[in-house]
Parts: sequence; C-alpha cells; structure tokens
Amino acid sequence: MGNRILLVEDEEKIARFVELELLHEGYEVVKKKDGRAGLTAALEETFDLIVLDVMLPSLNGLEILRRVRKESNVPIILLTARDSVMDKVAGLDAGADDYLTKPFAIEELLARIRVALKRRRMSNQETHTLVVGDVELDSDRHEVTVRGENVELTNREFELLSCLMENKGIVMDREKLINTVCGYDYIGETNIIDVYIRYLRTKIDDRYGIKLIHTVRGVGYVIKDNTDTSK
Ligand code: CA
Repeated sequence: MGNRILLVEDEEKIARFVELELLHEGYEVVKKKDGRAGLTAALEETFDLIVLDVMLPSLNGLEILRRVRKESNVPIILLTARDSVMDKVAGLDAGADDYLTKPFAIEELLARIRVALKRRRMSNQETHTLVVGDVELDSDRHEVTVRGENVELTNREFELLSCLMENKGIVMDREKLINTVCGYDYIGETNIIDVYIRYLRTKIDDRYGIKLIHTVRGVGYVIKDNTDTSK
C-alpha cells in the first residue's frame, strides 16, 4: 500500500522528475501545477503527504499551507526558492513540517519524505487513528474514510464502527456493542445493533465492495484485517 502524495509544482520539468522518482519509490502521486487546483485537491482528497512549491500561479504555496492547516495535519514539505529566508520562516510558522531549498537533490527530498511519513505514523498511534484495510477511522476528527473518500456516519454508527475496529479480530457480542453505542443504561432490544450493522454495511461494505464486518452467528460481530480489495 503506497502512500499517497500530492505534488504541487508549476515547473513542469521539476514536477515530472519528482513525480517519476516518487512513483519509482512506490508512492502514489497526484500532481497539480496551479495553486488553486492544488488547494482544492489538498482539501477535498486525502493524502499522506504534500510536497508544496511556494511560488505558484494563482495561489501562493504559503497561503495553501495556511488553509490546509486549518483542516488537517497532513505532513507538508515546502519547496522554496534559494534565497527566500522569509518563506522558510513563514512556512515553518504556518505549520510546514519541513522545507527544501531549490535546487535540491532528489535523494534529499525522498529522505525528508520518509522522515515526515514516519513521524506521522508515530503520531497517528498517539492520536487514535484506526486502520483496517482501506478503512481509516480518525477519532479525533470524528471521520471515517475509505480509500481516502469520506464516509458520512451518524454518531451511533461511528461509535459502533470505532468499537469494532478497536477490537479488531475479537468477536464482539451484541451486549458489549450496545453498551458502547447506546450506553450502559440502555433498555430495549439488542437487535438494534443489527440495524446499525446493516447501515454500516450499506455505507462501507456494499458501497466499496469489501468485506469488513463479519457476522458470527449467535454471538455478534467482528472486524477482520483481511479486507483485500485489490481484486
Ligand atoms: Ca514555482
């Protein structure tokens, strides 16, 4: 599973070169050569990292950085012009993870990317991101994505999915699930869980053609990490 990188760079030659190197390293690359297009992609899609040139047509890289930071903690590496000390300072102030001065050696960029991705993985473990196959649940942002696409869930669906993902591989009976989703003082049918499971399956399993939630007859449900969706 390659990390997905957004590359915003208007200089065609550099963009193409960096893209090829990233692809060669096994990353998935989305390339934009205009500031606004870059911002739109950064806000509407999900990336593991953004490589962002500062000098861009239509919208400056620093401005993109500021706007993206309001929404997300995705690692961002800035590409700055040789003598623009101000850009570097402003970039780091605005929340860039790192910067590289042009011209740079591609190995340097690749190394910085690896470091930033590793740092993100480590901080993800602290900030409660649960991942099972293509499904990612961010409990801080209360957000679920499948292959980078946002899935709208109600609070109860979210709690249920979160409970199952936290206990990946462990069969959860309806009682346990109901305590999580409805609270310990819930009085009523436990098959309400089946209803929420059905909603989740419609929104995730069916929609993306994956087998995330497994039924264990007579017991409850389990999420397994074998949601191979490559086929
Ligand atoms: Ca540029």
